[in-house]
Amino acid sequence: MSNCRLCGKERQLKKSHILPEWTYTTIYSKKGIFRPVSLNDSVLGKSEQKGYRERLLCKDCELLFSKYERYAKDFFYSIINNKYKNIERITLSSELFILKGFNYDLVKLCLLSILWRMSICSLDFFDGYKIYNEEEIRKILLNKIHTSKKYIPIVMSKLTINESPMDSLIMPFKEHVIINGVERKRIIFLGIVIDYFMTSSYFDGMIDMFCIQENGSLLISKQNMFEWENYESIREKLMTENIIKFHNDNS
Ligand SMILES: [Zn+2]
Repeated sequence: MSNCRLCGKERQLKKSHILPEWTYTTIYSKKGIFRPVSLNDSVLGKSEQKGYRERLLCKDCELLFSKYERYAKDFFYSIINNKYKNIERITLSSELFILKGFNYDLVKLCLLSILWRMSICSLDFFDGYKIYNEEEIRKILLNKIHTSKKYIPIVMSKLTINESPMDSLIMPFKEHVIINGVERKRIIFLGIVIDYFMTSSYFDGMIDMFCIQENGSLLISKQNMFEWENYESIREKLMTENIIKFHNDNS
């Protein structure tokens, strides 16, 4: 028995996923293992089974998070697939599309729960995600509190390498950039770049336009990884024979 990290009650703790299980589904091989790509460690992360987990939450809190995750799964799959459950997708250009009609609160709570889990867990893989406002976010998650779009605005883009989507990519970062005094925590899963701006008051026209909107809409742009400033190092990691072989074997 230990104290649940979310509700604080002394309970039997479950092995909680840090990233929702569905973030791994596009990269599980037939044997049920996957290999993450990390820029900071070895070229190819070691094989993992069942994703990254740690005993963090009691059964009730697991159920609460699974409610957020179940909804967010359809939202994320509508970014990578062409199937949209009750979510409208409008193409604006070859580089830009918009999702409409999703539940802002459930998507935001799921994304905040992922940020919070990465921060509180002790796995090396998520070393770069310690945040200063764990306790504040814990209360938001536990009490399903609505946050405005300016509270940790979240921007997403779909990663491509030239024209090909990178749907199977999971990539954490140990270091994060600071833009005009605001730290941007970035994680990539399902080939989607997720940027959390660690602020509750900062206002910037671009972020305001591209963050998740409270009316349940989101502008998503495509990012060509090869246009990133430090893409050479990323390209090197992604283009190693091991990784290419692994992706070919599993696609
Ligand atoms: Zn609990």
